[in-house]
Order: sequence, then structure tokens, then C-alpha cells
Amino acid sequence: MIQAREALALLQEGNRRFVSDISSRDPITGRARRLELASGQAPFATILGCSDSRVPVEIVFDQGLGDLFVIRVGGNIVAPSLIGSVEFAAEQFGTRLVVVLGHTQCGVIGATIEQLQRPAENQSRNLHSIVELVRPSVEALMATELRYDHDALVHQAVRANIRASVRHLRRGSDIIEQMIQKDGLMVVGAEYSLETGLVDFFDGLPETGV
Ligand SMILES: [Zn+2]
Repeated sequence: MIQAREALALLQEGNRRFVSDISSRDPITGRARRLELASGQAPFATILGCSDSRVPVEIVFDQGLGDLFVIRVGGNIVAPSLIGSVEFAAEQFGTRLVVVLGHTQCGVIGATIEQLQRPAENQSRNLHSIVELVRPSVEALMATELRYDHDALVHQAVRANIRASVRHLRRGSDIIEQMIQKDGLMVVGAEYSLETGLVDFFDGLPETGV
């Protein structure tokens, strides 16, 4: 089993390779690896990321088959079925690191800001359910001076939404809460930059660092 800190270091190294255009893709997605994994998996991290086509999780962390347990949903929100997926990986595969991965210029954050500024009555019920989960993070920021600076507002709202998802994951499940206390499970938040390709692990890292 790979412990949380070690898993975090693997992701950081992988992201550095991605940013430097050094990819290890062939050995990690090849036939031999596929056959090796057919009998079982032990992903070393669970990633709850946004569905945005520009943030494919395995690619930005330079990981291959069997490495990551990935959940992707618009706005990297936390809903019951997504918590269930995180619990599943932690219980079944011993995955000890959970990363909420948001990204700069997230469209769901933009849509939520727009919805708060100019409510559209014809918004689909399903999309509305996502916006409703993002809303509290954005609303608090819109009550400040940030409402006059759209770019700064989006930037801060992306991070606030990641932090909210981290909090929600930590407290929304007895199983996860117990694993944090007893088994060294770690839930952290990170932001991927569409511009630089870098992942900034800005939320929930232990003070000693990795
Ligand atoms: Zn997004």
C-alpha cells in the first residue's frame, strides 16, 4: 500500500514530467501493463476532478493504467454518489490519498457567477443541481469587492469551490472521517493551471510538507 505522502510525491513528480514534456506513457499504458492489471488494481490516489476536456487527469500527472482512481464531474463538486466512489476506492484498494482537482477558468464557476448575476429561468434542472452546490462558495465572494473584478472573482471562486469540496469530503462521510483519523487517509485540494500545466496543491497539505 502506498501511503498518502508518498502518493502525493508521485503526483508532484508526474506533473513535473508533464510540464517538462517528458512523458512515460508507453511503458505505463502498454500491453504488458494492461495484462498485469487484468487480475486486479491498486490505484495509489483517488482524484475528484472537473470534466473539462483540458484537464485529463492521467495525462497531467503522467500516470498510466491502474495508477489513479478518477472521478470527474463538472465543477469537481461533491454529491453522495461521488463520496461513495471515494469510499469505495479507500476500502477496496487501500487508496490513501484523495485529491480534489479544480482548474483555472473553470466553466462551471463562470456559469455559477453568471447565474447569480443574471438568473436564467430556463436553466436545466440537472445543470442547476451542480450550480446549487457551487453557489455558496461563489456567493460569499460576490458579497465582497471582488464582484467588480471578474477575473479575480473567478480565480478566488475556483479555489473556494475546491476548498468546499475538500471540506465536504472530509465531513460528509463517517467512513472517510474514520480513515482520516485511523488509517492516514489524506484529502487535499489542488488547482491545475490551464496556462502553465502546473498543479498547485494549495489546500490541506501537512505542515511539514512532502
Ligand atoms: Zn471545470
